[in-house]
Amino acid sequence: MGNFPGIFDLCRGSFVDGPGIRTVIFFSGCKMRCIWCQNPEAWSEDLMAVVRFSPKELVETICRDQIFFNSSGGGVTFSGGEPLLHPQYLREVCLLLKARNIHCAVETSGCFDEEVFSLGLDQLIDLFLYDLKVLDPSAHLKYTGIPNDCILNNFRKLAIRKNALKVTIPLIPGLTATEENLCAIAALLKTNGITEYELMTYNPSCIDKRLKAGLVNEPLLRSQPLSINEEMTFRIFFDELMKRPDK
Ligand code: SF4
Repeated sequence: MGNFPGIFDLCRGSFVDGPGIRTVIFFSGCKMRCIWCQNPEAWSEDLMAVVRFSPKELVETICRDQIFFNSSGGGVTFSGGEPLLHPQYLREVCLLLKARNIHCAVETSGCFDEEVFSLGLDQLIDLFLYDLKVLDPSAHLKYTGIPNDCILNNFRKLAIRKNALKVTIPLIPGLTATEENLCAIAALLKTNGITEYELMTYNPSCIDKRLKAGLVNEPLLRSQPLSINEEMTFRIFFDELMKRPDK
């Protein structure tokens, strides 16, 4: 069992991680170090208890809810951490799920290797929920710990499958939720013909979680969420950017 990736949570009956009723599988491990991360304990298997399943065992567990998937148009969502750090394993799991006609979604940071494409795993995923955080390269490095060129390259490759890509954008006050950053993201989406997106509400409980995980608190993070007015303003601003015709 030692070679199978660690799973730190398995949540049945979710309505928020893709269409219909879903089972969400949370894989441990992530190369990024976002200062607003809600699950810093998931960065490494050393930081939390994990369970391991063979691909067949995991699929059997997922399929306990197949009746709910079928009746709701749901399926399974792989999350984390970063699930695409385990492309060979995920390919085996997805092949078994596709044989049972189960919808497969992935929540990804976009920080994954070429192997996802060379193994054909990308073609087995019905929906990518793709997080775009900061487009300015130096700000991305500062806030997430890694450059964003690989993330943008992977985004452009996946954007060919337009309907299979929905972009999620975390609204972190002063960091990602700035007019400049949202303009850059909207331009990228429009250039690549992506129309599905969702702006994600900032939850300052990440500050407490970071403290509990023994991480130095980051003064760049605001301890209050965006006010309703602030958040609405950003949402309307982004919607209008996306509707605005290109010059
Ligand atoms: S990519 Fe996601 S899991 Fe990884 S550090 Fe950032 S927020 Fe956390």
